[in-house]
Amino acid sequence: MLSAGIRSALPLAACLAPQARLGLGPATVVRYLIGMSVSPTPRPWIIAEATWAEIRETEYELAILPWGACEAHNYHLPYATDNYQVEALAAESAARAWAGGARVAVLPAVPFGVNTGQLDIPFCINMNPSTQMAVLRDVVEALDGVGVRKLAVLNGHGGNDFKQLLRELQAEFPDTLLVTLSWFQALKGDGYFDIPGDHADERETSLMMHVAPHLVRPLEQAGDGATRAWNVTAIREGWAWAQRAWTRATVDTGSGDPVRASADKGRRYFNDLCARLAGLWSELSALPMNQWYEGEGESLPPPQP
Ligand SMILES: [Zn+2]
Repeated sequence: MLSAGIRSALPLAACLAPQARLGLGPATVVRYLIGMSVSPTPRPWIIAEATWAEIRETEYELAILPWGACEAHNYHLPYATDNYQVEALAAESAARAWAGGARVAVLPAVPFGVNTGQLDIPFCINMNPSTQMAVLRDVVEALDGVGVRKLAVLNGHGGNDFKQLLRELQAEFPDTLLVTLSWFQALKGDGYFDIPGDHADERETSLMMHVAPHLVRPLEQAGDGATRAWNVTAIREGWAWAQRAWTRATVDTGSGDPVRASADKGRRYFNDLCARLAGLWSELSALPMNQWYEGEGESLPPPQP
């Protein structure tokens, strides 16, 4: 019998009942629609699976809000790629933190991200930063009202940027610790993947081969993810920025060639990334609210002349 934590690290197909693996019955449809946030048994760290009776008995220390996007991912990955990835990472890393005693709560993922550079691509559903701010404020307010005073926004989409939103919300909710990170920055792909990229590339494709292999089309169907470089030197060099117009800068909506992707690479990266995230959740959960900083409460050494 596998522990819940280990079981949730397995590819989705391995978690499903035999009839679901064969693609039979309505259960298959439901399970595939809601992606990795399913398990053969309820997981108390996944709020979508917990009951009021269980939640009432648990003193949650940290809420984790996964945030993805609905957008084109080359010809071989599904639109909800960012949601599958970020949900799977949140679920498994939270399982590991929970096993170590941290009481973490993974909230349902927000499925729409900022996609202002893809408005001309069908079903790329843009959620403006101002709308995200409204959503986030309601989430923080709901948590604050019931005494959950730590929130980590786990971002899974390059167009999302929660830093500025959290700056504003932190001033409104000074007694809540607001943290954000993007998983793709938490662990670089160097040493795991051969061909660099940032969208539907080798890294994202490998991850999807691990977390949702049934949704990855044969790699022969994928475009090569070629992108056109900016004709502006500073933007090309990365020290100035402008929104990418995706249908002008790419051919297949991808950025980075997925040709060398594999489930094995995805599994290795997923596991290492989950270990790193679990460490962060555990540390945040244990952090006393009056000691965010080293030596807080003690007097600082006098300034040097
Ligand atoms: Zn993506």
